[in-house]
Amino acid sequence: MYEEDVPYVRRRIDFIGSEICRQADQYRQTVKAGQSVISTTIKTCPKCAGTLHLKTGRYGKFYGCSGFPACRYTERFN
Ligand SMILES: [Zn+2]
Repeated sequence: MYEEDVPYVRRRIDFIGSEICRQADQYRQTVKAGQSVISTTIKTCPKCAGTLHLKTGRYGKFYGCSGFPACRYTERFN
């Protein structure tokens, strides 16, 4: 009985393993898609109608205006 079960258990483990890999791939693709969405999202500066770019400053990420330094508008990055 036990020996008959072994191939089944092996297949089961293989299946679960490949399923985890598949889901991890999907997750990575979703993350990648999310990142490209963020980087291609165009935010407009409400002060000068310039483009806001994602920048990394001393306190973390923030959106800075393309009109900097004339325009010092910034927006928090969530
Ligand atoms: Zn601006």
